[in-house]
Amino acid sequence: MGPEFQLIDAFVAAAAASFRAPAGPGDDAAVLRPARGETCVTVDAVVEGVHFRRASSRLEDVGHKALAVNLSDLAAMGASPRWALVALGVPRGFRLADARRLGAGFGALARSTGTALVGGNVARGPGISLTVTVGGEVRRGRALLRSGACPGDVVWVSGALGDARLGLLLLERPRGPEARRLRGSPGLARGVMQRQRRPEPRLALGASLAGIASSCIDLSDGLVQDAGHLAAASRTALHLDARALPVSTALAAAYPEPRARARAAATGGEDYELLFTAAASRAGPIERLGRRLGLALTKIGEVRRGRGVHLRGLGGGRVEGFDHLA
Ligand SMILES: [Mg+2]
Repeated sequence: MGPEFQLIDAFVAAAAASFRAPAGPGDDAAVLRPARGETCVTVDAVVEGVHFRRASSRLEDVGHKALAVNLSDLAAMGASPRWALVALGVPRGFRLADARRLGAGFGALARSTGTALVGGNVARGPGISLTVTVGGEVRRGRALLRSGACPGDVVWVSGALGDARLGLLLLERPRGPEARRLRGSPGLARGVMQRQRRPEPRLALGASLAGIASSCIDLSDGLVQDAGHLAAASRTALHLDARALPVSTALAAAYPEPRARARAAATGGEDYELLFTAAASRAGPIERLGRRLGLALTKIGEVRRGRGVHLRGLGGGRVEGFDHLA
């Protein structure tokens, strides 16, 4: 058995989720039973040197995040995860223990979300990379698309915004101004660093929004940029109020000036919260859903005729689109 086989075996053994597929890892291909409704499929990669640095990362966190970013896309579709495939790229010097650590982080999230690892592959590369394909199920015709927002709908967002970007700043600039302001609150600092390393896909929210929301997208690139994707797909305008953006205690402490705080919330990426729209008449069910899930769901604006993202309340007038903020 060559070293590549041992590496993928070590990863799969560490990741071992419950295999509900008729044939999973170890055969030439996975055998899956078709979904009763419809299958949503997506793929995304986490690459050393691009998405994470080896020196400052735990491989357990890298394994978690590689799956989490994909599950977040399923959450945005309102789909429930079923299976995952992993293509692992490994550099020279990558050890069995490293494969086990990647697999342990991946597997803990796979188990807690009911995602079966049904196959994997390993190839040599210049650095560590995990390319993960996931499949999930959604009832026929119920998938949440980016294109369903209508003028008059309310714009909502889950959780708090900007924490993951703040966490990255704390990790990369431990002597920066944000880190200095959080020096007296190590618990808050740890919390946002955890949000950067271990995002939590909003699967329960997404599945519950199918049938309630008119459109949905997950926040990977930052609120304004992702809102722009949704507005473009729906051929509408999203009018957002910067003062309404939900922020954590940590973000408020790191950015005491209100406009800087709103800017951090509006542009920070990798929060993996859900941005969605719904008819104004659905506010009651959405508020009840937030209470049931223990997750803040906040109204941040409205859908109007027109194009693009219009963010008001930043002081300098309206900001349209991401480029104006850069
Ligand atoms: Mg996405």
